[in-house]
Formats: sequence, C-alpha cells, structure tokens
Amino acid sequence: MKKALLEQLREWAETPFSNPTVRFEDTYLDNGFCVDCRLCCGPQPGDDPYPMALLDSQLGPKNAEDFYLLDAHTACLDERGCKALGTSGCTLPRHRRPVACGLFPLVLQDGALYLYRICPASLLIPMVNWLALGQKALAYLAKLPLKDQKRLSIHLPESVLLERYSPLYLNLFAK
Ligand code: SF4
Ligand code: SF4
Repeated sequence: MKKALLEQLREWAETPFSNPTVRFEDTYLDNGFCVDCRLCCGPQPGDDPYPMALLDSQLGPKNAEDFYLLDAHTACLDERGCKALGTSGCTLPRHRRPVACGLFPLVLQDGALYLYRICPASLLIPMVNWLALGQKALAYLAKLPLKDQKRLSIHLPESVLLERYSPLYLNLFAK
C-alpha cells in the first residue's frame, strides 16, 4: 500500500542511517543513504511507469533481462520494481545503470533539475548542499550530446511535480 508522504518522511527522520553522506563522483551521486533505503529501486506507486533513458553505449541484448523496457532505449520502473534489484542492492555495474539511477534524487525534468523530496537524503542533507551537488550533476549532463540530454529529461504531471519534487532552479536546456 502507498505510504502517506508524511508517514514516510517521519520514518526517515527516525531511521539511523549507517552512512548519511552524499558526494558527486565523475558521473553519479555516491549516496550513502541508499544502502538502508532502496525505495526508488523497488515497486513504485501510480499507474504511469517511470522512464529511465539508456545511452547508446548502454544498448544491448542483456537489457531485456535486466530491465522492464518501454522501448529499446528506455528502461522503466513501475509497480513491479526494477528487475536489477537484488537482495543486496543493484546487481548491475555502475556503467550499465541508467543515468537517472546515478543522479537520483536529482531528476532532470523538462530540462531543469528537481529534487525528489521523498528520498531520505533529500530530507536530511541541507538544501545548500543539494544546490552544490546539482551544479556538479548539471556540469556532467552538459557534456553529453543534446540528443542524450533531451532523451534523459522526463516530463511529469504538474500534480506529481508539486507533491513530490522541489525545483533547484538549475537549467540544462530550455524546454
Ligand atoms: S530514495 Fe534516495 S536514498 Fe533511497 S534508494 Fe533512492 S536515491 Fe537512495
Ligand atoms: S538499475 Fe539498479 S539502481 Fe537503477 S533502479 Fe534498477 S536496481 Fe535501482
């Protein structure tokens, strides 16, 4: 059953996270909260699958084994969770994970970065740190070809955006 947002945030506030730190490595966030969380790799609420674009270099026949796919270029998360989630976390090497996985809870939506508020790291790391992390993520994304930037950018319904995401006012491209 979908947990109420307030209930989830209260739970995070009381959880003793073993490594409550987040750093940006070259192409991804090294998020210490994930080991005690796994929320965004598991079953997702709502009817619409969450799209996670794959780069050209990530295309291959194994993708159908590792992901639920919307099309050859797009893995997705829905009420089934992610096929690549094992008992100790993600079973894929970093270079095979969708870019969106490495950036979450930063989310590129309509060309701008947002923060997914329900992630415990979003709740427990100060916003000023997220702005700095967002700038690093933006610098990484800006090096990708524009076609990849556009493919990686998702479009969420306004109601979902308002309920679950905070804007960081960091823009990659105009929508
Ligand atoms: S919700 Fe946040 S902390 Fe939890 S697994 Fe996802 S990115 Fe990691
Ligand atoms: S590919 Fe790995 S990190 Fe991404 S959603 Fe699936 S299990 Fe999680």
